[in-house]
Amino acid sequence: MSSDKIAMCDLKGQYEKIKTEVDSAIQNVLSSTAFVKGKDVGDFQDELAKYIGAKHVIGCANGTDALQIALMALGLKPGDEVITPDFTFIATVEVVALLGLTPVLVDVEPDTYTISPEQLERAITPKTKAIIPVHLFGQCANMDAIMRIANKHGIPVVEDTAQALGARYTFADGTTRMAGTIGQLGTTSFFPSKNLGCYGDGGAIFTNDDALADEIRAIANHGMRVRYHHDRIGVNSRLDTIQAAILRVKLKHLDAYNQARIAAADYYDSRFANCSHLITPKRNLQSTHIFHQYTMCLQDVDREKFIKHLADRGIPSMVYYPIPLHNQKAFVPYAHDGLHFPVSTQLAQTVLSLPMHTEFTPEKLRYVADNVLDYFK
Ligand SMILES: *Cc1c(COP(=O)(O)O)cnc(C)c1O
Repeated sequence: MSSDKIAMCDLKGQYEKIKTEVDSAIQNVLSSTAFVKGKDVGDFQDELAKYIGAKHVIGCANGTDALQIALMALGLKPGDEVITPDFTFIATVEVVALLGLTPVLVDVEPDTYTISPEQLERAITPKTKAIIPVHLFGQCANMDAIMRIANKHGIPVVEDTAQALGARYTFADGTTRMAGTIGQLGTTSFFPSKNLGCYGDGGAIFTNDDALADEIRAIANHGMRVRYHHDRIGVNSRLDTIQAAILRVKLKHLDAYNQARIAAADYYDSRFANCSHLITPKRNLQSTHIFHQYTMCLQDVDREKFIKHLADRGIPSMVYYPIPLHNQKAFVPYAHDGLHFPVSTQLAQTVLSLPMHTEFTPEKLRYVADNVLDYFK
């Protein structure tokens, strides 16, 4: 693959810049042979806890497990309802159903694509036992409103931070928290393409609550606190030492990586500002937007034709997400009524994500923007 190709997410270019550091971190783990529960795992958890300002960071095998373990730690029972947005990656709702809980899907905001607080409040019943807002595409959901509603009803919040690690939320009263540290629990994924990605699978759970942290550590380790004493049913979900070692290297660059994404998004915004066919992603003023994806809405555009126009010019693009959860075959039984989801239904038909990563040159960015605008000439 030629290096002047435009990538949706340029992991190769990124690796080449940190190769020496990463290779030696991996070599150290190989020499130690502490592949599981090696020193890098604890060190990474401590360093990430410091970075996001959480008391506890507990590594696990992936972001889906992180969500599952978080819900298990809350002690929910079959039939309890868990509210999630209708417009997100499937993992958010998959674990809810898998645990025998009842997913309650809620529509999202048309401008930020994150869960609608009004719809959320309307969906609460006496059975609601958790709320999972998703900080979609790199920007926090409206946490002022969500925490106010959750606290009023005494419902725990699990923030799905898989797409927004490093985003910062400023509450109306001026206090600031990192994404993932606002609710009782936060979860993230280190899937390679995420803002902080490893070179395989990985995930983590965040909390400031000592009792929850203790429960989570036990759940992730076969429900075990003392070796071969199983207090509860758990799972086996660990962050590998090699992945932790890589993540320690990359965490040092995370702010710079997020800044590079923001700069690319600013450039796209400025180029597309006067094109009436492109609705650029809105920035919620309470949250930084670290652009896991640069996702626009197309207005009066044949999306398939537009995607082909870009592809013919060597520019990849992606539809995140083409089918809202209430229309996914596996989740139809949980969807009360398609009429409840006018916004996610519309978004699924009109969104398009452009290449977004940390390794753009000004020339490549200009090439993408020129060819996007060229379609409308
Ligand atoms: C990636 C992602 C996950 C799941 O992470 P994995 O590590 O792939 O299991 C969960 N939620 C959201 C919103 C994601 O984008």
